[in-house]
Amino acid sequence: PSKRSAMERMYEENRRIIMEAKLIIENQRQYFQTRATRDIELLKSRLIKLRVEILKREDAIYEALYKDFKKSKFETYFSEIGIVISEIDATLKHINTWSKPKKVRASGLNFPSRDYIYSEPYGCVLVIAPWNYPFQLAIAPVISAISAGNTVVLKPSEHTAHTSQLLEDILTTVFPTEHVKVIQGGIPETTLLLKERWDYIFFTGSVAVGKIVAKAAAPFLTPLTLELGGKNPCIIDPTMSTKLIAKRLVWGKFVNAGQTCIAPDYLLVHKSIKAQLISDLKSEIIKAYGENPQESEDYPRIVNSKNLARLTNMLQDSEVVFGGVSDTDDCYLAPTLINEPAFDSAVMKDEIFGPILPILSYETEKDIHSVLSHYDKPLGFYVFSNNTSFYKKMIETYSFGGGTINDTMIHFGNSNLPFGGVGESGIGAYHGRLGFDTFSHKKGIVIKGNWLDIPLRYAPYTNKLNALKKLFKFLG
Ligand code: NAD
Repeated sequence: PSKRSAMERMYEENRRIIMEAKLIIENQRQYFQTRATRDIELLKSRLIKLRVEILKREDAIYEALYKDFKKSKFETYFSEIGIVISEIDATLKHINTWSKPKKVRASGLNFPSRDYIYSEPYGCVLVIAPWNYPFQLAIAPVISAISAGNTVVLKPSEHTAHTSQLLEDILTTVFPTEHVKVIQGGIPETTLLLKERWDYIFFTGSVAVGKIVAKAAAPFLTPLTLELGGKNPCIIDPTMSTKLIAKRLVWGKFVNAGQTCIAPDYLLVHKSIKAQLISDLKSEIIKAYGENPQESEDYPRIVNSKNLARLTNMLQDSEVVFGGVSDTDDCYLAPTLINEPAFDSAVMKDEIFGPILPILSYETEKDIHSVLSHYDKPLGFYVFSNNTSFYKKMIETYSFGGGTINDTMIHFGNSNLPFGGVGESGIGAYHGRLGFDTFSHKKGIVIKGNWLDIPLRYAPYTNKLNALKKLFKFLG
């Protein structure tokens, strides 16, 4: 009987969530119909309010991220608050231009006409966010979605509970729930939300869950963006100072304790400089986080014990040349370097998503190719080289989401660049203007002039074929 009542309780809870979701979607759809979400001045006033509210709660954001995985204030400002504020500012600055119909060159075939692209919001958007940058990766897509005139239901991650609660508090203060609503929960709640019909789904997370989301969207033909992950290679030829490479790599790999979708996953370094690079990496790690990174205020923790166990398991069959120390009670794993892991070792199988850096070596471009062709198209791609033709060849030969030459991850920081994956690392992109475009359907419109009506296209076509061919040739 106790088992049955537990099942009944679960059934009741599911019913409650479904009813709540249906009600929220219904309210948002009604609100969408009023066209209030397309009122630019109203949108701007809410974005300004959001900006104020975020800055007012700066300390609370630091506290939440610290409680969730001991993220430092500096990293929190740099990678969560700062990026969100820039996204709001860019939207406030450009939203009038973005939302205006865009005049394009008309086709000579339709002469005379004026041609435009109209941006139209999809409607009710579901945003599902991950835990690794729990503030930024939740709010940035919400900003893009509402800037395009949609309503949003945001489902933040259950693994960063303090930040998710704060997100709910902030967004509830700024937006009426018929415009933006936060629904917290884990897999059961997200599964139920995915059963509903949405006008657009924006998902950030793992490849495996991305496939579940795509399947849920298919019966409704709901368009979607999938921001996923992958094993991001970092190729290092012998033409650059290993000291500078090491400094930039230690930042790129160990910021957020390596829990970054675009962190370099593994190094592929020219054999002639490997020993020197490893030595420089060790000294740069010590410079950044001290002899004992666990005591450093700047080094975050692994998000939970499950992920820590996943990572420490990767060390079992590896040659650890630096770090490797962990503390289960503190969810701590030291910045760790691994030498020449085998392809079938755990660390080379899946995306690492933690502070473990495998170092492989190569001698010829053929070696590089045989390593890269082992994996699906990654989200990020890095090359350190002073040899322009080498890095250009790498850019052109391989397919990947986006990348940086002579550094790592910083392509994310330019909102003029699209951010997104390809193949297994995702579908679609966002940031800045592209974020607005992602969340709007583009309507192609021709406004035909009435002052002239060229008779060529009308039947009967007698003797008109040659003139038609000439016209196509002329228009080229
Ligand atoms: P995840 O896929 O486990 O979870 C993401 C979201 O999906 C969460 O909100 C979670 O509640 C929900 N979810 C989890 N399992 C589900 C299921 N079975 N059915 C329905 N919903 C489910 O990802 P994560 O662990 O939060 O984040 C890490 C992954 O995200 C990594 O693979 C990383 O590369 C990727 N990532 C990608 C980007 C990007 O911009 N491309 C950014 C950050 C993280």
